[in-house]
Amino acid sequence: MIVPELNKPANQACQYADDGCTMYEHRPPTCKDWDCLWIKGEFRERDRPDKIGFVPWMMPAELMRDWKHHVVAFREIKEGATVLAAAEKIIKKFNKVGISVIVIRKETGRAFYPAKGFAPTMRASFQKEGMEYKERSGAFFVDVEFCKKAWPADYADESNLKELIQIT
Ligand code: SF4
Repeated sequence: MIVPELNKPANQACQYADDGCTMYEHRPPTCKDWDCLWIKGEFRERDRPDKIGFVPWMMPAELMRDWKHHVVAFREIKEGATVLAAAEKIIKKFNKVGISVIVIRKETGRAFYPAKGFAPTMRASFQKEGMEYKERSGAFFVDVEFCKKAWPADYADESNLKELIQIT
């Protein structure tokens, strides 16, 4: 996860992580508000993020207003982890109960798996935003070069993270 208060980019270990959080009582708001679905018990023990290779969270409703339904995001911490059978099963399970899934991959961009009946909503939203995407097997894929422009904070490092978080 990105922690702007600590200037911690995505895909980088936190300096306060050491078999737990060494500043748990004083952790910043981003960490306090973090909505990890594994911690909330939405996944099996064996699907813990460090084992399954991605971190899942519920997208805040205010960011998903146009889509008018629940959306979860998975950030891969092991590249390609979400294309494995175990992850595909989880994505399908969410989609079946009306929840769409966004997968954030550092090397290959984003993939969007719409919940049943929501592909037209997603397509319309992408088109409205001028997003370049490809459709394949009912999912939408946005390549990494476009993602770097659309969501630069995902690719930021310590030198520009704070600046980018303010503008995204
Ligand atoms: S909860 Fe603690 S260890 Fe985790 S990102 Fe926040 S400050 Fe770092």
